[in-house]
Amino acid sequence: MTTTGSHERGEAVIDLSAVRSNLRAVMASLPDVQAMVVVKADAYGHGAVPVARAARDAGVSWLGVALPEEAVALRDAGDTGPILAWLLVPGDPGIAACIDRGVDLGVGSSWALDEVAEAARRRGRKARVHLEVDTALGRGGRPAHEWADFFQHARALDDAIEVVGIWSHLACADEPSHPANDTQLAGFQQALDVAAACGLNPQVRHLASSGAALSRPDLAFDLVRLGIITYGVTPGPQIGPPWPHDLAISPAMSVRARIASVKRVPAGHGASYGLTWTAPHETSLALVPLGYADGIPRTARGAQVWIAGRRFPVVGRVAMDQFIVDIGDEPIEAGAEAVVFGTGASGEPTAEEWAAWDDTIGYEIVTRMGARLPRRYIG
Ligand SMILES: *Cc1c(COP(=O)(O)O)cnc(C)c1O
Repeated sequence: MTTTGSHERGEAVIDLSAVRSNLRAVMASLPDVQAMVVVKADAYGHGAVPVARAARDAGVSWLGVALPEEAVALRDAGDTGPILAWLLVPGDPGIAACIDRGVDLGVGSSWALDEVAEAARRRGRKARVHLEVDTALGRGGRPAHEWADFFQHARALDDAIEVVGIWSHLACADEPSHPANDTQLAGFQQALDVAAACGLNPQVRHLASSGAALSRPDLAFDLVRLGIITYGVTPGPQIGPPWPHDLAISPAMSVRARIASVKRVPAGHGASYGLTWTAPHETSLALVPLGYADGIPRTARGAQVWIAGRRFPVVGRVAMDQFIVDIGDEPIEAGAEAVVFGTGASGEPTAEEWAAWDDTIGYEIVTRMGARLPRRYIG
C-alpha cells in the first residue's frame, strides 16, 4: 500500500506488534500445526508487505494469497519463504510468473492442471501445486464425483508438477457446531483416501481458516490458514471475544482523522446530502474529512466515532470525502482527533461495531479502507 497523502487528514494506523502477538498466540494453541498467514487483498487492508514481514518475524512458515500477482509482489519485496496463490483463471500470465518465482499454486480445475504443467515444461522447472477439493462450499475445487479423475490427471502430469498439498475450504468456520464442519471433515478425509489410492500422498493437508483454527482443532490437519484473526478481528461472534483458551487477540488497525471544522447550528439545520437528518435542537456539528472514497461505509446506520474521550453519533449521509458528527455542546475544536474505530480498549468503536452498523462483517470494514487513506506502521 502506498502511503502518500496527508496523515493529518486521516490515517489507518497498523500495529504490527498486534499482528505478531495474535499469530504467536494462535500458533501456541496449535503447537503441532503449521500456520499460513493469509495476506490477500493487501493483507485485508493492512498492507501485504509489512504484514508478511511481521508474520515471518513471528515464525510463520507460509503466506497465502488469492491472486498470482499478489504472490509476485511479495517475492518482489524480498520474501523467499513458501507462498501459496489459489485463484487462477485461464490464460493468467501470473501462473508462469509464480512458477518462475517458486510460488506454490492452488489448482482446482483440470484446465489449470494442464496449463500449470504446460507452463512448467516451458520453463524447465517443476510447478508445486496444492490440489483443491470442494467439500461443500461450491467455490473452487473439484466436487467429490470428480476426485479420482482429478487426482489421476495430476498424477499423469508428474513430469511437470509436484503435488505438495491437498486442501479444501470451510463454509461455516465461524460456527463451530454447524453440522457442515463435520460433513466437510468427513469429505476431506475421503478425498485424502481417494488421493492415496491414486498414489498421491501430499505433505500438506489443509482445511481450516481462522474460525476453525480457533474453535475446531480437530480440523487443523497439517496447516491452518489464518486470515482475519491475524488482524485481531473476529471471524464471527460465536468465536470471540471472549477468545478460546483466553487467547490474547487485539485489533491491529485503527482509523483516525483530524476534525476539519466545527460549527454551531440552530434547531432544524440539516446535515449532508438529501437532508436526511435535521438538528432537533441547537447543537454543534464537527466535520470529519473521511468519506466513502476512504472506505467509510455510506450505508452504516447509527454509527459513532470517538472524540475527546467519548462517543458521538455520525449524522446524515457519509459523502465521498467527509461526514458530519453531532458533538452537542462539547467544547471540541477543529484539529481534535476523531477515532473512527480502534481496539475498543478505551471505549472507541471497533471494526466489528462498524460491521454491525453496516450490516456486514468486520472483514469488509478493514479490507475496504481505501488506498487514499495513508497507512502508518507502529510496533
Ligand atoms: C480468505 C481465505 C482464508 C482466510 O480466511 P479467514 O476467515 O480470514 O481466516 C483461508 N482460506 C481461503 C481459501 C481463503 O480464501
